[in-house]
Amino acid sequence: MDGGALDNSIQYLPGVGPKRAALLKSELGVGTFGELIRLYPFRYIDRSTFIRIADAVPDMAYIQIRAKVVSRTLYTASGPLDTDDAAKAGKGKSAVRRMSVLIEDGSGVMETVFFKGIKWMYDKLVPGQEFIFFGKPSSFNGRLNMVHPEVDPVPAAGQAMSVGAGKMTGIYTSTERLKNSGITEKVMNRIMASALDASLIYVRESLPDYILKEKNLVPIHYALRNIHFPSDQDALAKARYRLKFEELFYLQLSLLKQKYVRSRNECGIRMPKVGEYFNACYKSLPFPLTGAQKRVITEIRDDMKSGHQMNRLLQGDVGSGKTMVALLTALIAIGNGYQACIMAPTEVLAQQHFRNLSRYLEVTGVKVALLTGSSRTAERKEIHDGLEDGSIGIIVGTHALLEDNVVFRNLGLAVIDEQHRFGVEQRSKLWSKSSCGLPPHVLVMTATPIPRTLAMTLYGDLDVSVIDELPPGRKPVKTIHGTESMRPALFRFMKEQIKAGRQIFVVYPLIFESEKMDYRNLEQGYEQIAQAFPFPPYKTAIVHGKQSNEDKKFYMDAFAAGRADILVATSVIEVGVDVPNASVMVIESAERFGLSQLHQLRGRVGRGSEKSYCVLMTGHKLSKESKHRIDLMCATENGFELAEEDMKMRGPGDLEGTQQSGLPVSLNIASLAKDGIILGDARRYADHILDSDPTLSSDRNAILREELKKEKYQTRDYSKIS
Ligand code: ADP
Ligand code: MG
Repeated sequence: MDGGALDNSIQYLPGVGPKRAALLKSELGVGTFGELIRLYPFRYIDRSTFIRIADAVPDMAYIQIRAKVVSRTLYTASGPLDTDDAAKAGKGKSAVRRMSVLIEDGSGVMETVFFKGIKWMYDKLVPGQEFIFFGKPSSFNGRLNMVHPEVDPVPAAGQAMSVGAGKMTGIYTSTERLKNSGITEKVMNRIMASALDASLIYVRESLPDYILKEKNLVPIHYALRNIHFPSDQDALAKARYRLKFEELFYLQLSLLKQKYVRSRNECGIRMPKVGEYFNACYKSLPFPLTGAQKRVITEIRDDMKSGHQMNRLLQGDVGSGKTMVALLTALIAIGNGYQACIMAPTEVLAQQHFRNLSRYLEVTGVKVALLTGSSRTAERKEIHDGLEDGSIGIIVGTHALLEDNVVFRNLGLAVIDEQHRFGVEQRSKLWSKSSCGLPPHVLVMTATPIPRTLAMTLYGDLDVSVIDELPPGRKPVKTIHGTESMRPALFRFMKEQIKAGRQIFVVYPLIFESEKMDYRNLEQGYEQIAQAFPFPPYKTAIVHGKQSNEDKKFYMDAFAAGRADILVATSVIEVGVDVPNASVMVIESAERFGLSQLHQLRGRVGRGSEKSYCVLMTGHKLSKESKHRIDLMCATENGFELAEEDMKMRGPGDLEGTQQSGLPVSLNIASLAKDGIILGDARRYADHILDSDPTLSSDRNAILREELKKEKYQTRDYSKIS
């Protein structure tokens, strides 16, 4: 094919020219034929049917009416003009502000209104003549009207409709500047029609014939023609499906291919046995593992003994027991003669992991140490030595683990908790810490539920394990929406809970742009609580980011040990903290948190045996979106459901936890939020193809090989980030 033709500038297209071409480039990013025809409509208007005026109502979408002109009236600032003046004004006098045209189709009469192009429209809309009016009905002073409809002649019998009329019309993204330069919807349609006519023959089929057949997809030329000018709904659906499938298929093919290449080329440390430490710990656990935990451990175990490097993402809702999985995984590494490290995003969390693990590790005799930014020099020295000579089996820590002077004797496993808090470079540093020549196995754990579709794409070259089951005995958390007027009732309720021996979190948002104000809110909130809950008998602790690490630890410990009834905090407690006796989570200004964050916070309660509550305090006036978020929180406790909704509401780019990673390839037509089924199918199919032809070197896959050479698929190597 002559790919060059598609690279030609669109400025020579009829109706474009250098000025408009520059504008299309700057406003929409399309400069060539190839780019233009890949700019798909975001919406369609079905012009294949007519509506009767009697049936039209103001809130309809665009409609099409076939009607006769009854009368035309021109208005100046001072009122309507009579017929003679109108005739003159119609010839170009400028005081005319507006033209009202009544139209009639036998079922009723409707007014159409024009503010621009009046002279031209006046001449065109001769009373008695019939036209096709196309526009959005609205209501003015209680009457139905249509402002600036498109007006097309009624085609004579047997004659084709003019461009746009009588079929489905695509609507493209536009901007003020484009509209001001005359690129209206109609003009855009004409430009697109010429572009397709001129360049479609140069577009090469981008999927092999056998895939089109097996997946029942329409050819690319059909798809492109019908995505712009659908002959009917069915043709549009086929065109769309083909383009979406193709987009998602190539995305998955490129990700999975990287994965195949890696798993073939990169050797990993072979850890053939489970080992005595694992068994000792397992036997002494105070509870049976959940089915999901067992399944995930089996998946991990298979990776570790395979001789390939493990790169696994472990997803599980807050409280689903990921830490236990991490611990048992670490013990497998140790049982095979290697060391393990567990890295947490905050000091508080690292300490908590350390405490928990120490408890379970006692029976195994494995030595575990904690290394954070506030470890003292002498302690540090000792830890460094222990890691180098291998006497420390498991090291838990924060970023401090990444420092150059931390050297392992033989690191075999790196567990990274709450993956999204670490930058890409930091992770690759861990990677380089292996000393036996082979990279350590990597387990990334995240409690931010990521919708499956997104996980498959963001971590497309990682294996994904999901803990989709909570340990038994968890009581559902009752979630309530509260406003300021309910505060006295809230405080009474909190007192009852404290009297019953429970503890309470009160959380304030912390958002960087208004840090000062946030702290003021927090301080005021603390004052308010201190007044309503005076000491004695009430004890209130406060924890926030501006405290020293010692203070933070002091108050956290006090709360964890039950020495304080209430913990007032900023969202620093968001991740991980485990205080089973806490039964109430009050979230202030809840409308300022995202869904996933709210869910994370709520996960802090409901861990003990008591009934738990989450109270979402908001202002009285909420935006529609905030209201929707709060309602969802009250309606479901399922983190994945919330994450899916979050993604639908905000788009995948904004989803918490994904900002750093970003999408590997930007999508043009498919949506991760809406096309999960196609994505799943595309991924399985890509997998199936790679299964029989991992390098895509067979003749039938030549097209696939070529496509993947395109720049957009040359993403950074994701294997290095995990
Ligand atoms: P996550 O890290 O996924 O948020 P954790 O590992 O911190 O969850 O577990 C939350 C709590 O549940 C901890 O107190 C842990 O001891 C407990 N737990 C973990 N697994 C089980 C299980 N199978 N049965 C009962 N309790 C469990
Ligand atoms: Mg955890």
